[in-house]
Amino acid sequence: MNIHEYQAKQLFRAFSIPVPQGGVADTSEQAQHVAQSLASSSWVVKAQIHAGARGKAGGVKLAHNPREVADYAGTMLGSRLVTHQTDANGLPVNCVWIEQASAIKTEFYLSLLIDRDSERLVFIASAAGGMDIEAVAAETPEKIIRVTVHPAAGLQSYHCRQVAAALLLNKEQQGQLQAIMTGMYELFWAKDCSQIEINPLIATEEGNLVALDAKINFDDNALALHPDIAAMRDASQEDAKEAEAKQFDLNYITLGGNIGCMVNGAGLAMATMDMVKLKGGAPANFLDVGGGTNKDKVKEAFKLILSDGSVKAVLVNIFGGIVKCDVIAAGILAAVEEMHLTIPVVVRLEGTNVEQGLAMLKNAGLGLVAAEDLNSAAEQAVKLAEAIA
Ligand code: GDP
Ligand code: MN
Repeated sequence: MNIHEYQAKQLFRAFSIPVPQGGVADTSEQAQHVAQSLASSSWVVKAQIHAGARGKAGGVKLAHNPREVADYAGTMLGSRLVTHQTDANGLPVNCVWIEQASAIKTEFYLSLLIDRDSERLVFIASAAGGMDIEAVAAETPEKIIRVTVHPAAGLQSYHCRQVAAALLLNKEQQGQLQAIMTGMYELFWAKDCSQIEINPLIATEEGNLVALDAKINFDDNALALHPDIAAMRDASQEDAKEAEAKQFDLNYITLGGNIGCMVNGAGLAMATMDMVKLKGGAPANFLDVGGGTNKDKVKEAFKLILSDGSVKAVLVNIFGGIVKCDVIAAGILAAVEEMHLTIPVVVRLEGTNVEQGLAMLKNAGLGLVAAEDLNSAAEQAVKLAEAIA
């Protein structure tokens, strides 16, 4: 799960990571009040969305008086911000964060995440921080250092000195960095994060290190342990279909093609998407209805797939192991009947009670295409979708 920058900065503050003074607002009047309440001569107005690269997209603005703060806030609020990390529709800006502007001397990059290869947490740092860290990684990877921390030994001062040396920090800043890295490390464990990113971490003109941006991701599987974090969820920033799928315990991800896929098992779902691609088509989604599925889940899965307007054909690929094929067939028929389906549905069933399942589909007279195997199922789905488009 993602949270907003302003929420991440609250957590930073709680873990002694320095952040600028600021406040959140959801109207331009409120934004002006926040600015007036912060002793400063300039302010930064920042659109709160679950995506980065806001700076280059007009989502981070420097204002020189509270009136200007209100103007920028008014422009951002209620709009959708498109950055190169969002899709073409962008994300809705429902609140803005206003903070005292910082005088930047240097911008660094600092993050903490899980390195699956070494099975440790790793700090990633670069003196070339700021907005273009992806370009640094692609063009001058030697400017990025990685410092892994053994979970049993924990964070040690030498880890911090290694990062401080790479960032060319002075003695005083080294101490500040140690406090920041300690805060990040403790926050990571305390709240079951999967990533904490500060880009940029800045040295101010006065020489102090401050987290100017804040991004935290959390491990969804641990959210039940952290009701305070779970309460920070902002559904407006999440794909509506993916959120609905979660309610029914379906694993659904929107992909943008025109062939809706309904599959049981993540591995089979991946193989099905590969097969669709191989036949020259494009999957509209990844959908794993799970092992212990039932009629209602199949119906919900159909609803999800069909709520995507770009879907021109549906490919159902189910292996009836735990759930028998006739139960799946009943679910498909109920859904197709109830939803007055007009687009072609190709079904490939395999496993327990497959003959009964296929017979039910054929005898229903609903125009479902029962395919022999995955190969021909994918081929037919792609052809039928092309015929419609
Ligand atoms: P992002 O583009 O979504 O990652 O948003 P950031 O919070 O990282 O802001 C983008 C850029 O805006 C930063 O890299 C800074 O260069 C600039 N910026 C943000 N806050 C301030 C500030 O207080 N003072 C100044 N001078 N620049 C800022
Ligand atoms: Mn940033």
